[in-house]
Amino acid sequence: MFIVYGRRTARIKKYKNDTQSCPNCNFFGVNIKVYRDYYHLFFLPIIPVGINTSKIYCNNCKRQIRSNSIETEYEGKARAPIYLYTGILLILSLILFAILNNLENQKENIKFVENPIEGDVYRIVKKEGNSTFYYFLRINEVSDDTVYSYHSSLMYNQFTDKLSDNDFFDQSEYFIFTKADLKEMLDKGEIQSIKRNYKENTGFNRVK
Ligand SMILES: [Zn+2]
Repeated sequence: MFIVYGRRTARIKKYKNDTQSCPNCNFFGVNIKVYRDYYHLFFLPIIPVGINTSKIYCNNCKRQIRSNSIETEYEGKARAPIYLYTGILLILSLILFAILNNLENQKENIKFVENPIEGDVYRIVKKEGNSTFYYFLRINEVSDDTVYSYHSSLMYNQFTDKLSDNDFFDQSEYFIFTKADLKEMLDKGEIQSIKRNYKENTGFNRVK
């Protein structure tokens, strides 16, 4: 993809000063324009960069005037407007959204392990040495504190959120947990996700 990015300059403030005279035409009244560079991505401002700069113009003859003291005064006064931070604010809100979403998921998962029902599907992650693999458990029956589940017939060595077409839950063998076991597995991060009310194309209803 062709990415357009780089550094541009924005005029962030314009001031009027009528007590300042022009050395060229002696007219009292100048404009001070303050500028700031910013990084952009596809012309969307990401974040301001560098320091403010400024230019002073006579309001009468329009010529540029040099004055370090005035330039410094107004450069110090002008704040970069919020829109120059658009990109960074967007990124921060996405991160915040992800965190809140994750908290919400985690809360829901706690409810699910405390109250498992038939059909719940857990994605389990296991790490052994340098390798990570995944499999699924499908709750088949809950009796008081005991939870009976079926194991997916396959293990996956990469992340997936559905069964592959040739996979199914194998009902020849039960995997038995207590609710406390499930809570512990969730706390340890072994239970990565819990699905209830999933779609048919996940394959989570295939039990053989
Ligand atoms: Zn002038």
